[in-house]
Amino acid sequence: MKNQDLVEYLRSCGVCEICQLRYLKARGAEYRNINETLQKLDVKLNEYVENEELLISAENQPAKRARLSVCSTCLGLFSKDFQNELLSSILASDFAKYDCQKIVLAICLPMSLQLRQLAMWFALRRRFGSSIDENIPPDVPIKEAVKLILHPIICEKLAKGYDANGLMINIDLTHNLEDGEVEKLVKLNKEAFPAKASHQKRIEISRGLLEKQYQPSKVKAETFEKYFQIPCPNAEESIRLTSIELQGPLVCVAGRYRKLSRELSHTPWILNGKRLMEDSIEEIIIRHVGPHFTEKLGKITFMSSGREDVDVRCLGKGRPFVLEIPNAIRSCLSKDKAFAMERAVDASGMVSIHNLQVVPREELTHIKTGEEQKKKFYRALCALQEPVSVKILEQLQISASFDIQQKTPIRVLHRRPLHTRPRTIYSVNAKVQRGNPKALIIDIVTQAGTYIKELVHGEFGRTSPSLSSIIGKPIDIQALDVVGIDLDWPNEVDNSIQEEY
Ligand SMILES: [Zn+2]
Repeated sequence: MKNQDLVEYLRSCGVCEICQLRYLKARGAEYRNINETLQKLDVKLNEYVENEELLISAENQPAKRARLSVCSTCLGLFSKDFQNELLSSILASDFAKYDCQKIVLAICLPMSLQLRQLAMWFALRRRFGSSIDENIPPDVPIKEAVKLILHPIICEKLAKGYDANGLMINIDLTHNLEDGEVEKLVKLNKEAFPAKASHQKRIEISRGLLEKQYQPSKVKAETFEKYFQIPCPNAEESIRLTSIELQGPLVCVAGRYRKLSRELSHTPWILNGKRLMEDSIEEIIIRHVGPHFTEKLGKITFMSSGREDVDVRCLGKGRPFVLEIPNAIRSCLSKDKAFAMERAVDASGMVSIHNLQVVPREELTHIKTGEEQKKKFYRALCALQEPVSVKILEQLQISASFDIQQKTPIRVLHRRPLHTRPRTIYSVNAKVQRGNPKALIIDIVTQAGTYIKELVHGEFGRTSPSLSSIIGKPIDIQALDVVGIDLDWPNEVDNSIQEEY
């Protein structure tokens, strides 16, 4: 089969030049200069220069032109007209609201295109025999061609880069013949695959089914022809755009927070429909960071590497956290914007954040996994009923790790199941508080998930051993701070140092 013969046959079937190149299996940039590529492939140019004709008639007789030029295989998908319509529709959408450098097109194509591809496949086999394979499509499939042809053009016209994680432009296309053709396809499917039809109660006609089942090796041309023409006839109308929906990227903003208040909950604290605390760490951070990325603050998810109790502060380098922001209007965060957000959160006086930055989505695993293996560093202010003795101080200098058995504390039994968990305590280090002989400052390093208050006082033996049982005297815990979390994530960034331009 000569390229010239193939192209002449395709031309006689009303196939457009771009689709002719698809059937010549052109790649990438070869679609950019049609004539050059055709010549390179030993195909004589058509005297009837389609593109010029289109330009002239576009101004004078748009209606007539549409009828003449609809390609029988792509239904006008690759025509200049459709590109222009697509572009102007994107620009007329909320596109300008998004401040994204990268885009991705997700085009939902009518099934008519797949049916026409199959009709042409049958036609080519009739015309050129076994030089057309019955398993390998004779063309560059439309879906792939959209990526090769439409994506670069749209990206270029919009001056955006292409990135699968960029702003997603969901484009729905239809064709006036589609409904009728799908109806015929349901009948064809029953006839072509009777065994399957009887096993399944309802056959879902889908694009995937067409892709998998509908090839000349699996469907007889004669059966297909009872419902559809071979080759596919010219269409009167071009493909139509039914909707454009934009979906911004999922942006992840990470940082570390310090909790400076003993009267602040982690997330909104609501009991029986009533708010127990006015504010929360989650809300303060989202309030100041969220609006830069989205108007819908309620859609943001706040996650952190563990959490502390309402009355526990978190000091030191702070606790890693991340905001997951869906459908964001922008995906970048400059250092000066980040610094302004950090200062705004700090101004709350209750929470302080730093290292604020956009992180790749893949890095979320740092915060989600391995929680149990992490070490936590605490400082507890404790009171004894008597002055601290040298013996007590010695008993509370423990450098070798030991295990405890800890029953779920009574205070959390309403939301956690009753279990006895083993936990490892890595070290205990106590000293007397200056100016108060009955008070101890105890530094404790534990496995994540240890209940520290219960580790100190023992909760009537529900945690064993406890610091109280070790010294054989009651200990009251008065204040607790988290002073370190062994997760070196996200990267340290000093947003107060401004970028140089
Ligand atoms: Zn075409």
